[in-house]
Amino acid sequence: MIEALPGAGRTVLLVEDNEDNQMIYSLYLEQRGGFRVLLAWNGQAGIELARKEMPDVILMDVSLPVLNGLEATRVLKADPRTRDIPIIALTAHAMLPDRTRAADAGCNGYVSKPAEPQTVLNEVLRHLPGT
Ligand code: MN
Repeated sequence: MIEALPGAGRTVLLVEDNEDNQMIYSLYLEQRGGFRVLLAWNGQAGIELARKEMPDVILMDVSLPVLNGLEATRVLKADPRTRDIPIIALTAHAMLPDRTRAADAGCNGYVSKPAEPQTVLNEVLRHLPGT
């Protein structure tokens, strides 16, 4: 018997403009977590994909083109349809003010980059609704 992976049947939206991070995190979440992973390259595309696909968890890079990750988080948290989706901020800055700003914008969790893919997966699982 193959044990079901924790993310089987669940979807993560990864909003990230760095191609290496996109590849590393999405492959790991798919192969080790069993998640379906959707990708968006900027904050505005992330909002649109979240509204269309209603993912279980969103990983949101803070530094993004068009609309940054904190602005995109504020939009999603102000919308009754998407406000309950957990959003985990990804940021290159391990500074306390950034953590505070992410929390102020409505982020439910926070991972400092560079982060091991397993750290990202653990944080996604910690926020996965219904587990
Ligand atoms: Mn970025």
